[in-house]
Amino acid sequence: MAPSLHPLIDNGLTKGESDFNGGTLRCHCKSNPVEVELKGNVLHNHVCGCSQCWKPEGALFSVVAVTPDENVKVTKNGDKLAVLNPEATILRKACKECGVHMYGPIEKDHAFKGLSFVHVELSDDKGWQEPQFAAFVSSLIEQGYPPEKMGEVRQKLKDVGLEPYDALSPPLMDALATYAAEKSGKKSKL
Ligand SMILES: [Zn+2]
Ligand SMILES: [Zn+2]
Repeated sequence: MAPSLHPLIDNGLTKGESDFNGGTLRCHCKSNPVEVELKGNVLHNHVCGCSQCWKPEGALFSVVAVTPDENVKVTKNGDKLAVLNPEATILRKACKECGVHMYGPIEKDHAFKGLSFVHVELSDDKGWQEPQFAAFVSSLIEQGYPPEKMGEVRQKLKDVGLEPYDALSPPLMDALATYAAEKSGKKSKL
């Protein structure tokens, strides 16, 4: 039996809508959930195998995207949010009661500063961009997944149309490297 990657992708991807206007994310609390409004659609949505991103119970991967900070607005019960790890690059703001990560901005000097990481599965609204690729796939092993089953995982990702990478996708890795080259003065002028 094929492994369960994430409920949103196990049965194939649902395409997003290009003219989607955004929606509301809600944490898993039964009463007084934290609500975060996102303006417009997300960018670079992907599945992620790292140990840091929030994922639902039983899922091997998280589904995580970015959106400009100015498109993120906490609209309800923001007092329940706390930064999970102030030392991390992404300052993931999680609900203190249910543990769900609501959004994660980057405040330190970084290529992706100005973007917040969000999980669109927390929204009932339809039209969010579908995942585009799979990141940090080999990280599953560090979290206890059997190495000999990784072939199966990569095949299933490919079957649903997600190219598996062991870091971010090439365009995002290039963006990180370009930022580093600019900072060190080594960026090609050609
Ligand atoms: Zn909650
Ligand atoms: Zn991750």
